[in-house]
Amino acid sequence: MKLTLALLFAAAAYAQGPIRGFSEEAAAKQRALEAKLLAVPDARRLEAHMKAMASEPHHAGSPASRKVAEYALSQLRAAGLEAKIETFEALLPYPKDRQLSMGKFTARLSEPNFAEDPDSTDKNQLPTFNAYSADGDVTAPLVYVNYGVPEDYEYLKKQGVDVRGKIVIARYGQAWRGVKPKVAAENGAVACLIYSDPKDDGYFRGDVYPAGAYRCEYGVQRGSVMDMSIHVGDPLSPGFASEPGGAKRMTLKESKTLMPIPVLPISYGDAKPLLEALSGPTAPENWRGALPITYKIGPGTTPVKLKLTHDWGTRPVHNVIATIRGSVYPDEWVLYGNHHDAWVNGANDPISGAAAVLETARAFGELYKTGWRPQRTIVFALWDAEEYGLIGSTEWVEKHLPELKEKAVAYFNSDSSGKGVLGLGATPALNLFLEQVSRDVKDPATGESVLAQMLKVQKPFQPRPLGSGSDYVGFVHHGGIAGVNFGFSSAASSGGGVYHSIFDSFAWYKRFSDGEFVYGKALAQVAAMSVVRMSEAPIVPFEFTRAAATIRKSWGEVDKLAADKNVGLPNVTASLDKLDAAAKEFEAQYASAKSGTREVYLTERALLLPEGLPGRPWYKNSVSAPGQYTGYGAKTIAGVRESLELGQRAQAVAQAKVFAQVMENYAAAITAAGAKLKR
Ligand SMILES: [Zn+2]
Repeated sequence: MKLTLALLFAAAAYAQGPIRGFSEEAAAKQRALEAKLLAVPDARRLEAHMKAMASEPHHAGSPASRKVAEYALSQLRAAGLEAKIETFEALLPYPKDRQLSMGKFTARLSEPNFAEDPDSTDKNQLPTFNAYSADGDVTAPLVYVNYGVPEDYEYLKKQGVDVRGKIVIARYGQAWRGVKPKVAAENGAVACLIYSDPKDDGYFRGDVYPAGAYRCEYGVQRGSVMDMSIHVGDPLSPGFASEPGGAKRMTLKESKTLMPIPVLPISYGDAKPLLEALSGPTAPENWRGALPITYKIGPGTTPVKLKLTHDWGTRPVHNVIATIRGSVYPDEWVLYGNHHDAWVNGANDPISGAAAVLETARAFGELYKTGWRPQRTIVFALWDAEEYGLIGSTEWVEKHLPELKEKAVAYFNSDSSGKGVLGLGATPALNLFLEQVSRDVKDPATGESVLAQMLKVQKPFQPRPLGSGSDYVGFVHHGGIAGVNFGFSSAASSGGGVYHSIFDSFAWYKRFSDGEFVYGKALAQVAAMSVVRMSEAPIVPFEFTRAAATIRKSWGEVDKLAADKNVGLPNVTASLDKLDAAAKEFEAQYASAKSGTREVYLTERALLLPEGLPGRPWYKNSVSAPGQYTGYGAKTIAGVRESLELGQRAQAVAQAKVFAQVMENYAAAITAAGAKLKR
């Protein structure tokens, strides 16, 4: 028995090299603990969680969403954790009327039922719509705008095509969906259709569902079009928590994040007759998709009619929160979360990741039952209403912000996860930490490390900067808390072909993604390893020389952009030199230190911009932010970079001054943390 267990432990984890934050002696003990922890996550249990949590459509605000929250609650309690549901409320509109027609053609606006996939026949599926689209009834000529990003409108202007008063049709892809209607409205369009072109996630990529993993003729991508570049969370309570019977909320008119024009997502089956009817110039080659038509820009001669109404309901949002109290540093929190709400059944998005949270929590529960107690407090969270605009996590961060600013060491996040290579987005100070975590977890397909697989795709090891798209946003961009986003993916298993359609089901996941749940198990192991190193490390495992190098590289790009635009920026390099020096000095002190906690993780708060980003004060992170015109995609040093991109020269200069000051503050915080390390 002992031998078998030892073999199991050996199979789950690698033990190579030093562990950041631990002395050699402490690392040996830590490895034994990690081996026990990583042996717990179980593929069959992950599958059972997915079956249970993705069995019904469970969009936020619905009774089925409450049921999923209660399932998670019961699982966390069964694992021996203290757990509760924290309820908020938010504006969560559901669609009412949806009509789209052109002459004799009426769009179908519904997805087909397939006998192979019982979930596709469920009557409780939410109809296809874009959340926070305006209500409206418009009839106007149609214009094709490619991906609907600002460059596309520049091209249209050069061609003499005016979209004012028109309905535009954009294809999904390139930028986040909410950017498309926003830019359409800025250019004077009266409504926006967004369709999934087969070139981007349909038959051009591979066989379509149910034969293959990709989007079928009438598959539709639902999704939110909240203007998340301003702020995320409930549109009616920016900056404060929206609790039942709580603080006053704004009116719909006062909200800054509702889309001003009607927006509707459609399938390529519905888009084809509309696109085919366009006249005017032929679209340039890089605008053409994979439909068997000649792509034209328009406008069309027959006007298109679009009518949309929504119920604008306020609905409950149920976050599930579980904690294990720290025995030495109870007021230092390590958090790991994933959302539980879906647009549909959501086997991939989000249950593949939510199941991993439950298995990670169970692993800690197993240790807890043996009498083990973590050094720091561990918090597991399953968030609601992520799909509408990261609402559950954001309201929670806003409610607990003063406490989080003091106590949060780091927030780990996952979301949809498939199989293949581990994707990582992270705060720069966690670069070395994450390299070691992925070095020490085994890739289930090859038996090599997760890190080895990552290095086959990209060298050197470099997590992406954090933009938007999942629940880390409130923590990282508003709270100044170190954050990580992780999940496995490969081309087909990433779920792009069924993303936010009713085919994101257990049947799809089983056939086309991580059907054996071995990568789900690896995700739980990556998460467990991350959490337990962060909770147990005698010295909080941040590392600043790589952070300084990452930030300097970003500054190099911004500086070059300024030079290209002939904008003279104030000297930031001197501040970056101070940061380098502080990071090196910290390393020297770290080498002989035994412990160091609070001041080390509080360095991250020094990266916050006191006034926030220009025009969007809710976003306070100076190092990375979601781009105003990319949506999910990150812009590093966004205050300066976006000012340059938008031609705001004076603002770019002012922001560079602010950034230099923030870098000095960061350097000073690192120096202070180094001085407080205990020898
Ligand atoms: Zn998701």
